[in-house]
Amino acid sequence: MPTMRAAIVSADFAPRPGYKLTEAEMRTRKVREGSKVWRNPKLVLRTDYPVPEPKPDEVLIRVKAVGICGSDIHFLETDSEGYIIYPGLTRFPVVIGHEFSGVVEKVGAAVKTLKPGDMVTSEEMFWCGECDACRSVDFNHCTRLNDPADLEYGELGFTHDGAMADYVVVKAKYVWKIDSLLEAYKSEEKAFEAGSLVEPTSVAYHAMFTRAGGFKPGSYVVVWGAGPIGLAAISLARAAGAGKIIAFEVSPVRRELAKKVGADYVFNPVELRKNGVEPWEKIMEVTGGNGAEMHVEAAGAPEHTLPQMQRSLAIDGKIAWIGRAPQEVPIYLEVFQVRRGQLFGSQGHSGFGNFRNVIRLMAAGKIDMTQIITSRFSLDDVYKAFERAHQRIDGKITIKP
Ligand SMILES: [Zn+2]
Ligand SMILES: [Zn+2]
Repeated sequence: MPTMRAAIVSADFAPRPGYKLTEAEMRTRKVREGSKVWRNPKLVLRTDYPVPEPKPDEVLIRVKAVGICGSDIHFLETDSEGYIIYPGLTRFPVVIGHEFSGVVEKVGAAVKTLKPGDMVTSEEMFWCGECDACRSVDFNHCTRLNDPADLEYGELGFTHDGAMADYVVVKAKYVWKIDSLLEAYKSEEKAFEAGSLVEPTSVAYHAMFTRAGGFKPGSYVVVWGAGPIGLAAISLARAAGAGKIIAFEVSPVRRELAKKVGADYVFNPVELRKNGVEPWEKIMEVTGGNGAEMHVEAAGAPEHTLPQMQRSLAIDGKIAWIGRAPQEVPIYLEVFQVRRGQLFGSQGHSGFGNFRNVIRLMAAGKIDMTQIITSRFSLDDVYKAFERAHQRIDGKITIKP
């Protein structure tokens, strides 16, 4: 059997005392709350991992670029008791990596839309398309994806072997062609780098335009947090014709990147406060007392960001909520009544033309997400790549097998 390199995260299956798993979770170890179950995580680069064989509806993809995501980092960082930080759906051991691009190597017998040689990227959400949620509402809320008893569906690099490897298999229905990026970038290297950023960019697109319904050109947009998702939000806001884009970010590298991708004003909230200015006051100053028509939360820090947003929401303003935080925070509903405000929770990136439109924007040169890549490693150096990732000094770290 042919083998390959693969970066694998494993951990001890050790449910926290008092945390009750369902019978299905115990049996399949596809668990809904990873941070309550997985302890002592380990990253290992194997060189003898079997190359997966595509089933009839799947394609085998040779990976060309794969980004390290915040959730990959949270698989490996632990709390004081040794449990992983990542709170969501997980099934270890698993090959990690879900933001990737590559070349189709082999297609299953039933695949009609792809052929060997196609340049592609893939969605990370393995939705079924058959459950009530998929058929009636939104693929990103597929109930089979989240069902511990269902091992066919889940998330790439979380419950199913991902792309931090030489090869990955995915069902053809999740795959999108990115040949158009080659025309835009005139370089395969760059096209694959851009392709590996379609997934995180689509997370921002889904929140701002699909869930929250977008904003009118000329609107003021505030982005909280300039990690990869926030940087995508800034790029998209600019492409969509925002009047002013204001970003808040503590990391100096990321503040620099925020400017590069299109933010008009970038502030360090900690610095502002030191000088006795609250972020919301700065927003009101920059917008001439109007506030922002759209706030994008990509910081995952609701206790800090929500009070600021509430004080700087324009009349008819929207909040698009992407950042994750497993904690409850007080909300001042009066603002949402008096300011005619709306808050949209958003999860995922599938469906609604999200991937298609992000690829179009990249192909047209209206957004260039490759600017946020600040470090590149080969797969052989995956340990070094994660050492660097834990320091949080980069925009995006990309691994090129
Ligand atoms: Zn991710
Ligand atoms: Zn479904």
